[in-house]
Amino acid sequence: MSLHNFNAGPSILPATVLEAAAAAIRDFEGSGLSLLEIGHRTKLFTPVMEEARLLVRELMQLHPDQEVLFLHGGASTQFMQVPMNLLPANGKAAYTDTGIWSAKAIKEATLFGTVEIAGSAKEGGYCGIPKTLEIDPAAQYVHLTTNETVHGLQWQQLPLNVEVPLVADMSSDILSRALPFDRFGLIYAGAQKNMGAAGVNLVIVNKNLLGKSDRRIPTMLDYREHIREASMLNTPPVFAVYVALLTLRWVQQQGGIPEMEKRSRQRAQLLYETMDACPIFECPVNVADRSRMNAVFTIKDPRLEEAFAKVCADAGMVGIKGHRSVGGFRVSLYNALPLESVVALTTLMKDFAHKNG
Ligand SMILES: *Cc1c(COP(=O)(O)O)cnc(C)c1O
Repeated sequence: MSLHNFNAGPSILPATVLEAAAAAIRDFEGSGLSLLEIGHRTKLFTPVMEEARLLVRELMQLHPDQEVLFLHGGASTQFMQVPMNLLPANGKAAYTDTGIWSAKAIKEATLFGTVEIAGSAKEGGYCGIPKTLEIDPAAQYVHLTTNETVHGLQWQQLPLNVEVPLVADMSSDILSRALPFDRFGLIYAGAQKNMGAAGVNLVIVNKNLLGKSDRRIPTMLDYREHIREASMLNTPPVFAVYVALLTLRWVQQQGGIPEMEKRSRQRAQLLYETMDACPIFECPVNVADRSRMNAVFTIKDPRLEEAFAKVCADAGMVGIKGHRSVGGFRVSLYNALPLESVVALTTLMKDFAHKNG
């Protein structure tokens, strides 16, 4: 039975990426050595890092002042590394609270300076993106989580015209939609949702934002040190960087970010249309704020949830259980997911609704 992989992260990757990654572990580009047993400063590996950084720049059409880094530590490390570099101890930063991930970012930022909540969806149980924001013009930056992976919310209209630099956690919708990326002060994303394997973090930072705090920053956490060393300050996570490169190449071959967005809209539209047409399923998120990457839903009669989970498991559907903190179901619709998987799931949903409605 072929499986349909709806995992939330780490998650589905293109089959060609997995094949090339496996081949590189056995013999990297005909060198007779594995990718895992060559030095990172060799002629074999340095082009990997260079091409990955360049492809990000090209695909996202970045501004020359924006620097592209591949760093360790996952997106969660950025929750502290961002304020450590951008927020002076006597300064303030504006944060939006739209779900679990933004709440974690807020918690870390308070360790470094004053955090003001510019908008929050917490009171409503994280069902919608705040419609208005109050941002102090004196804030060093405003932080957004563009897609809330657990609660299934996504900023469809980003506040691009705010006066303060925009900082965005794009971990779960990176490379899935066209945005004016050149307008962001800082973008970060763990690779394992939509652009590769776990173990590496993409950071894009406008260098003009750096060096404004007199805080002493440990070398490994200082963006300026990583920029100076072209993202090779120490041993990078070579395998994860390589898988990111393969995924970036795949995105480019498929037609770039606009094509990824087109496919993403198709997948999400089919799933939400089905959900709305079958009233036994309920989506807690406001229609306008529904995520095209992670669709969450419950079944009106919770006693049917187990039966639905079993039907899905029997049909080879993997990873549709909701996050442990919210329950219900979550279907992740990342770039590498074929539309056929969504067709298979929605067919099964209609059938289940028909039998149990
Ligand atoms: C998964 C995720 C994170 C955390 O990523 P790690 O790499 O596990 O630290 C942060 N933000 C968002 C939006 C995520 O989806």
